Amino acid sequence: MQDKNRLVIIGDGFAATVTAIHLLRKGIAADSLTIMGSGFLGKGNAYGCASPYFRLNVREDLPIVFSEDPLHFARWAEANIDDPEAKTSAGFFYRRADFGRYISELIAAEIGFDKIQRIQSKACALNQAHGLWKLDTADGGVIYAEKAIIATGNSPPTWPCPIQKEGGEQASARIIENPWTGHYLPSIGAEERIVLLGGGLTALDAIYALAAQGHRGLITVVGPRPVFPPTQAQWARQKQPNWPEKLSPARLLRFMRHYLPPAPATSTEWQNAWEELRPNLNSIWQKFTSHQRQIVFKRLGWAWSLYRFRASPQTIKAYEQLKANHQIQFVVGRAKQVGSSKSAITVELNNGQRIRAERIINCTGVGADLFLHKLIADAIAIPDPLFTAIAVDTNLNVIKPNLQAWNNLWMLGPATMGSLGDVVAASTISKQAEELAAQIQAEASV
Ligand SMILES: Cc1cc2nc3c(=O)[nH]c(=O)nc-3n(C[C@H](O)[C@H](O)[C@H](O)COP(=O)(O)OP(=O)(O)OC[C@H]3O[C@@H](n4cnc5c(N)ncnc54)[C@H](O)[C@@H]3O)c2cc1C
Repeated sequence: MQDKNRLVIIGDGFAATVTAIHLLRKGIAADSLTIMGSGFLGKGNAYGCASPYFRLNVREDLPIVFSEDPLHFARWAEANIDDPEAKTSAGFFYRRADFGRYISELIAAEIGFDKIQRIQSKACALNQAHGLWKLDTADGGVIYAEKAIIATGNSPPTWPCPIQKEGGEQASARIIENPWTGHYLPSIGAEERIVLLGGGLTALDAIYALAAQGHRGLITVVGPRPVFPPTQAQWARQKQPNWPEKLSPARLLRFMRHYLPPAPATSTEWQNAWEELRPNLNSIWQKFTSHQRQIVFKRLGWAWSLYRFRASPQTIKAYEQLKANHQIQFVVGRAKQVGSSKSAITVELNNGQRIRAERIINCTGVGADLFLHKLIADAIAIPDPLFTAIAVDTNLNVIKPNLQAWNNLWMLGPATMGSLGDVVAASTISKQAEELAAQIQAEASV
């Protein structure tokens, strides 16, 4: 059979690279590994950004790649990053691009790195053929693999509403569908009125970068709530919550509400308590039924996104500065339609409001992963309890339609959230990668 690979990692971002590093360190032969993806190895959507104003949302001791050496990145950063702006009273918050460089340099320094095969294309379908995985690639190729790991990450944002364009390239340039790289920033005029669709960390990234380039125009933030995630404080876990037995969604939410102190979410006291709650949430989540998970997500989802993903102090400082200049305006609503012409954009909201500006930036978050959807359509996998990705078990094995787990197909990274809980941060993904590498090593040595 042509091009038979032992283990293919589908994806070339953070999760794929950290998995490859852990597999190599567990003694898996480098020439048995193939990494698929069309990007720059190790950077992915979060850390492949160009803007120096897109910063990590956690301080330097938190993006952990090696559990036995949690300060590896902090030491590397001190020796290799020249960034006087990184230091704040809540710790060092480095540029995401520098973290991407760290991951790329880490893998490049691994023994055997040059023997890893690369396929510079995306996978568009995965099926069984003669007991192997058959992968169709976006450039028309086909490869076969004994085992596969899906690490396709966060799909870039797509517009949440219809877009109407009239006016060729000028109209196209006014609408930024995927702002994660920051490529659009240099083309923005200082006086432009800008609409940010969505009020999370991506919107804050845009605000920080615009403030840094001296933006003077009005920025209108459109979202369901007129509030941004708070700044990171210098928090530390000081005690363990005494979780009640037999939690239902209602008891979980009640317990969390009582555990959090009546202090602002920006305070160290509140963030200590919030972070004390987090380590147990995944095991609690995994014990809930699909229906219970949907209830928790519906009731806690927005607050979770708001407080879980806090922003770097530098980012919030830039936002406060623009707010003090009266350059930030919140409009509560959801976009129903966006029109773009040579001279302006118009956003129509579901509440009947219309906003006119020169540019719109889509900050609405992760888009749909068509590759995962295809796995469901091809009856290789089933949807997870939140219907956002495919279901995996606690060993990261992908679950088949007959509810058995594939023993040669795994998935890790943010797409495992519906199955496993709070798995989006770099350190949690590294932990998944470490555990998966140990599992694959144990199977290889039997
Ligand atoms: C904008 C942004 C900022 C973030 N900031 C932070 C932060 O500051 N701190 C933190 O802890 N976490 C942060 N995160 C969380 C982030 O989820 C993880 O840290 C991590 O980057 C996820 O790694 P990943 O490999 O799963 O995804 P990615 O790193 O995005 O990698 C996925 C890769 O797979 C490729 N791919 C996709 N589909 C296919 C396919 N079908 N075939 C082949 N390749 C494919 C993509 O092109 C991409 O290169 C951020 C996330 C985003 C999106």
